[in-house]
Amino acid sequence: MSLMKNHRSNKHLDPKAPFVIDTHDLSRSPGSMREVLLEVEVPRAIGNDVIAIPEGSLIILNVRMEAVVQGVLFTGRVAGLAVGECVRCLEQVDIPLDLYFQELFTYEPETRSRGKEVDLDPEDEEDPLPTLVEELADLEPTLVDVVVPNLPYRPLCQPGCPGLCPECGALLAQDPTHQHDLTDNRWSGLSGLVFEESASVGDTKHLSDDGSSQREQEES
Ligand SMILES: [Zn+2]
Ligand SMILES: [Zn+2]
Repeated sequence: MSLMKNHRSNKHLDPKAPFVIDTHDLSRSPGSMREVLLEVEVPRAIGNDVIAIPEGSLIILNVRMEAVVQGVLFTGRVAGLAVGECVRCLEQVDIPLDLYFQELFTYEPETRSRGKEVDLDPEDEEDPLPTLVEELADLEPTLVDVVVPNLPYRPLCQPGCPGLCPECGALLAQDPTHQHDLTDNRWSGLSGLVFEESASVGDTKHLSDDGSSQREQEES
């Protein structure tokens, strides 16, 4: 299941939820800071159907909380492993992620008036800043927003993965010289008719590959 934007709801937060961080210990004097290092089990996959940090896997959160006038600024890194499937050969693709994030959680409106008033009018913004709820910050939407854009649209197991043989489905990356042609012993016992057919299929395949027609001319 993919998890896209589910933003900025002000409903009650569960302090034990995986990505909910309690700022209670942090003094509200601007400049006070606290750092936390968390290992979190992902409650639902972060990503899409092609590639995601899977549900149940672990991610490391290294977060610095800093009190500012408007609220609490969260700065940190999230590290985890995204798992997907190569779009060409269907082998598993593991992509280690180590991403920077920063998010300002504003104080709840009824407590925000302390200190001098700042230029901040969340009502005017299309994507308002998240708000602390009972001093709790839910980092999950923040992490989804930082992880999802960093996942590849078309994951590849390696740059230029050659994919699968269109004839037999063999993994071409494990067998770079794989081809079906006159020199393939597996075809040597077949009749001339089948022989010709396999050769013509092979030619078509070569022409469809980038640059291979030139290489073929050089070889012949
Ligand atoms: Zn591949
Ligand atoms: Zn093949």
